[in-house]
Amino acid sequence: MDNTSSLVNRKRVHPLNDKRVQPLKSGTIIYWMSREKRLEDNWGLIYGLELAWRHAQSFSIIYTLYNDIFKENPRADLFSITGLIETAERAEELGVDFTVLSGREPADLILEYESTHTVSAVICDFHPLRFQQQEQIKLAAHSDAPVFEVDSHNIVPARVVSDHQEFGAHTLRIKIERLLPEFLTDFPNLFDLISKVMLKKAPKVMKKNTEGTREKLFRTMESEESCKRIIIGEEFQPGSRAGTNKLMDFIENKLYAYAADRNNPTLEAVSGLSPYFNSGQISPQRAALLISIIYQGTPLKNGILDELIVRRELSDNFCFYTSDYENMAGFPNWAKQSLKEHREDLREYIYTLEEFENSDTHDPLWNAAQKQLVLTGKMHGYMRMYWAKKILEWTLSPEQALKYAITLNDRYALDGRDPNGYAGCAWAIGGLHDRAWKSRPVFGKIRYMNYNGCKRKFDVVEYINKIESIS
Ligand SMILES: Cc1cc2nc3c(=O)[nH]c(=O)nc-3n(C[C@H](O)[C@H](O)[C@H](O)COP(=O)(O)OP(=O)(O)OC[C@H]3O[C@@H](n4cnc5c(N)ncnc54)[C@H](O)[C@@H]3O)c2cc1C
Repeated sequence: MDNTSSLVNRKRVHPLNDKRVQPLKSGTIIYWMSREKRLEDNWGLIYGLELAWRHAQSFSIIYTLYNDIFKENPRADLFSITGLIETAERAEELGVDFTVLSGREPADLILEYESTHTVSAVICDFHPLRFQQQEQIKLAAHSDAPVFEVDSHNIVPARVVSDHQEFGAHTLRIKIERLLPEFLTDFPNLFDLISKVMLKKAPKVMKKNTEGTREKLFRTMESEESCKRIIIGEEFQPGSRAGTNKLMDFIENKLYAYAADRNNPTLEAVSGLSPYFNSGQISPQRAALLISIIYQGTPLKNGILDELIVRRELSDNFCFYTSDYENMAGFPNWAKQSLKEHREDLREYIYTLEEFENSDTHDPLWNAAQKQLVLTGKMHGYMRMYWAKKILEWTLSPEQALKYAITLNDRYALDGRDPNGYAGCAWAIGGLHDRAWKSRPVFGKIRYMNYNGCKRKFDVVEYINKIESIS
């Protein structure tokens, strides 16, 4: 039996071990859902269903709950798990088995499952971050079944677009532009595919234990004290449905002003879609397909598609090819050298992590940005740059600055703990994907931002008042 797929571009699929799919009697194809927590527009799910259909195997989705869920960023986890409940309900509507496993490390859970079920293949999501990669490699090494990774997060798969860490957006953009016609394609119809699997493999093998799955997820949330105190604002209702509505609202009502107004945090010009993309509730490829209908023929550079495709995929490229994505070793050499030369420069202000966390600095604009993050789970993109650069200016060392920025971002941002966050912090503090600028105290040649620069761009007082009105 081969692993050919006609529905998914084979370049999207990467075998993690050298096993081949076995046509096992009563065998099951497992889709180990992790990064992409949706049914629609999901290449990994499609690939799994197609294998099940072609090889007359049954099909199951498995989600493995982390042991430390709700500990580090309870609001983001609540967002993610609430969205997952919607996905589980949808799976039930469609008759697709959806199981949640918990209690051990993710790869061990899948291996344990394999020891009691006949598993013909496991499909997992591409993930550039360390822990998830290690778990997938562990599974692939110990599994008797073939394990395939499918990249459904990047429109041009990360392994295909480049085999090394890219220098910057301009080097990646050229490669993406060349490959986009091959990869920016529409998705096959999910219902047709599910029906095909069901026809070939009587409905009884598409078990429906989603009821238990949903209860388990609810129980996990209810048992967590921290969840009871969390408020997810109206603006960021979790789930694929809410994410799709937000995408459509953006396209219909905001897209026309995006290029002109996206750097103005007093306006509502940005999409607010990153929590949905990062938790896999909606597909960036679907967003790009819809938006590219409007921007047909326009070059990527400088528009929303550049952010959505090039910048976002550049972050995956950075984290995938750089094990040092969370520390200073991941900065470019010119930046490391320059920051080293300015290590002893006098800092006018120095704050502790707690002072930053409590918005307790001398700068009302910075404090407002931090409050926006804590109160809403989402700081405006322009303020994120200013926010991180000031942390560099007001800490003892670049190492400490990076640590504080990542800690606060990952602790409070609904879209945190993501390659975009690690790349964003390394860009602001360590010159990643940027060039050297005129040297100045503390920053060295890292691009500088200041309060007056913000004042020239937007009404700073209006932004501060806007955030104060939330508090
Ligand atoms: C210090 C710092 C920390 C950051 N932390 C995160 C983070 O934790 N999670 C996160 O998703 N992004 C992060 N970013 C990148 C960027 O600020 C956000 O992606 C953006 O603000 C998300 O809001 P939006 O969806 O409204 O973006 P929009 O402007 O509407 O853009 C649409 C999509 O394009 C992508 N995008 C936009 N800007 C960038 C960018 N600079 N880099 C990569 N992708 C981009 C995102 O997927 C975004 O959802 C960070 C940037 C900096 C400077």
